Amino acid sequence: MVKSVDKESQQKILNKWLAINYVNETNYDLLFKVIGGFALVLAIVLFFYAKQIKLGKELELLASTDSMTKLYNRRYFEDAAEQFLELARRNETDLSLIMLDVDDFKKVNDEYGHKVGDTLLINLAEILQSLSRKSDIICRFGGEEFITLLPHTNLKGANFMAEKIRTGIEEFALQLDNSSQLKFTVSLGASQVNVLEDKNIEAVIKRADDALYEAKNSGKNRVCLK
Ligand code: GH3
Ligand code: MG
Ligand code: MG
Repeated sequence: MVKSVDKESQQKILNKWLAINYVNETNYDLLFKVIGGFALVLAIVLFFYAKQIKLGKELELLASTDSMTKLYNRRYFEDAAEQFLELARRNETDLSLIMLDVDDFKKVNDEYGHKVGDTLLINLAEILQSLSRKSDIICRFGGEEFITLLPHTNLKGANFMAEKIRTGIEEFALQLDNSSQLKFTVSLGASQVNVLEDKNIEAVIKRADDALYEAKNSGKNRVCLK
């Protein structure tokens, strides 16, 4: 059969086969290019998706923290505290709260200026963080007032913690530019959640605030409990 085909036709058939093989090789090239392109598009999409998630997290952090001290802000604290109260109610666990206010802070601003006042608040926030447990929720409640939520802590534990903060701050000295130091004190009020009586966290905050008021009125630089 093959013999019946002349040499010229045989060559033509051979050439056609070679051409087909050539086309096949080009198709693999194309396939690799398509896969490569696809991978590149996927990588770009993933990159922007990850960036979007990071941006979302950053926005979340901005909305929940105080920009100066980097502590939680009041809005975040109140939401989180309600959830902790619910958990304490359900699991019958202890929950306490400490309210803190800088003593005579207006004098600091008046004598040293607002910048020093701000630095003092930043240092105070760092002290609070260094003395607290990881599970505690520390918040700048407003101005020179701070609040800490202490999960799994009863009034005795809250008193211990508040005293630790009070003495920690009493021992601290803020280094000023002109090589002098600034000492300051804080007053604190602590209260334990009573899951049977406290309808919401506001009630506990009010009690701790009353205790803080008592600490202020009885001489400052002290802890009062309610
Ligand atoms: P007390 O011992 O009774 O708490 O007196 P105090 O002077 O600390 O309290 P007062 O409420 O009279 O003054 C609080 C001051 O805190 C007034 C306000 O200008 C200042 N303050 C609030 N927020 C900031 C802040 O972010 N930075 C600075 N530098 N000062 C602030
Ligand atoms: Mg105040
Ligand atoms: Mg004050």
